[in-house]
Amino acid sequence: MSAGVRLVILGKQGAGKGTQCVQLSRHYVVPHISTGDMFRAAMKSGTQMGLLARTFVDDGQLVPDEVVIGIIAERLSDKDARGRGFILDGFPRTVHQAQALSELLLPGRLDIVIDLAVDTALVLERLASRRVCSSCGHNYSVQKPPKFNWNCDHCGGEVVQRPDDKSEAIQTRLDLYESQTSPLIEHYCNEGLLETMDGAKPMDEVFTDIVNAIDARQAARSRS
Ligand code: AMP
Repeated sequence: MSAGVRLVILGKQGAGKGTQCVQLSRHYVVPHISTGDMFRAAMKSGTQMGLLARTFVDDGQLVPDEVVIGIIAERLSDKDARGRGFILDGFPRTVHQAQALSELLLPGRLDIVIDLAVDTALVLERLASRRVCSSCGHNYSVQKPPKFNWNCDHCGGEVVQRPDDKSEAIQTRLDLYESQTSPLIEHYCNEGLLETMDGAKPMDEVFTDIVNAIDARQAARSRS
């Protein structure tokens, strides 16, 4: 089995983070921790945290830092994440969240941060056509729908457009990415952790590029 990894993946909405994370999680045998998925699950089951999250998520606004940092602190204390590591998708999204993450990981630290770079025009195209299973979260698109009647191929759930993939919410989310999340690129570059990948390449090539970058860092660390 390959070594684990402690990885953060950055990239605009629609850059392909979710798709890459599913494959990377299998490859490195570490949990894929998506704060967006955690909020959608809480909203669906109607928990108190879900009700609170809904007031932000559907409009494309950020959930307050204290709430997000709290759920991540809890998840990272689970045995699987403390053992082989994790892939964080959608967290951190602000410099304050990144600082909180560094503190949570002490005395350890992240191994690598991948920035999946994609032009805004391409992500707008991808987001407008993205569809998702309302039950299991599997991703589809208008070009690649499920086989039967917008019912998920995996679980039969209804495949729909996410409320926050509609045009006004998309614009809010991309603006927030620019103002709140893109400063993390400089932040992690200064920490020597950042690797930038071309997210416009075909999915399999992006996956290979990411694995090569992770493995090169791990090999360099084991030599030092
Ligand atoms: P995502 O699936 O990553 O695009 O996340 C969907 C929504 O969940 C975001 O638009 C935010 O409303 C909320 N969310 C997810 N992660 C965070 C985070 N780290 N900080 C604040 N809000 C978040």
